[in-house]
Amino acid sequence: MTDYNVLLYYYFTWINAPEVLAEDHRKLCSTLGLLGRILVSHEGINGTVSGKQESCKEYIDVVRSDERFNKIEFKIDCVENHVFQKLSVRVKKELVTFRAGESASANENGKGHVQHQRGQYIEPADFLTLLEDNDAIVIDGRTDYEYDLGHFRGALRPPISAFRDFPEWIRQELSEYKDRKIVTYCTGGIRCEKLTSFMIAEGFRDVHQLHGGIVSYGNDEVARGSLWDGRCYVFDERISIEINRAGNKRIVGKCHHCSAPTERYVNCANLDCHRQHLVCADCEERMQRSCSVECITARRREILTA
Ligand SMILES: [Zn+2]
Ligand SMILES: [Zn+2]
Repeated sequence: MTDYNVLLYYYFTWINAPEVLAEDHRKLCSTLGLLGRILVSHEGINGTVSGKQESCKEYIDVVRSDERFNKIEFKIDCVENHVFQKLSVRVKKELVTFRAGESASANENGKGHVQHQRGQYIEPADFLTLLEDNDAIVIDGRTDYEYDLGHFRGALRPPISAFRDFPEWIRQELSEYKDRKIVTYCTGGIRCEKLTSFMIAEGFRDVHQLHGGIVSYGNDEVARGSLWDGRCYVFDERISIEINRAGNKRIVGKCHHCSAPTERYVNCANLDCHRQHLVCADCEERMQRSCSVECITARRREILTA
């Protein structure tokens, strides 16, 4: 019963009129019945959409027939239904909010091209070898709450809750490793494009990134998600997906209340808080899905005054 697909994709290329491209995609997705989130900017496109398999296939064909996007890569997952409730296509200044100055964004060079220096791609099978050999500094290119649910064994945890905080952490904590081999990874690859580009500009000399991100690594027939622990956080209704098909997965998520192993993220039942937290089944019941005693009290008040 998996006749739906989720498509994850991005491509950096100079877009003259992002509004026009956004409108084209809005129409195309509506016609094909695709739902999801698409961002368009002068620097390219970034999206996650879900839909019937045939519709997704047609979407891929139409996007690739545009010569600006003939090299775009799609990560394809099989699911049972839509993983979004609506379609949102927006024009933004940056595809990923990073704002680390010029070194980190793609810039128009005056000839209608985008300059984008990035780390070298490392394929899933080679990435696995590198993990096994313990041969490089592996940096998780996501945020702390994504890391806490699942990550590659031995990867560094960035102590940040927003991607734009990366530059400061790298400058403060990693500058002594500029001559070491550095490898970054993220969900689908786009954040690594920004991150490695920034690191190269900062003087890191040997920078690599996992090609296609965690999602491609999990689908790769050689790597099979090996040495990935926990689950991978995703930004749709699934909340997280399995990656490790090699049988060596460990659960790394810990209950916010009692530290028991868990892989379940919920939002605090107190709507004024709504904090996403990892929780075990027992504590979820005991704490009425609230993140703190204060939130239980606030929620009771909410219900009484409703
Ligand atoms: Zn617990
Ligand atoms: Zn709360």
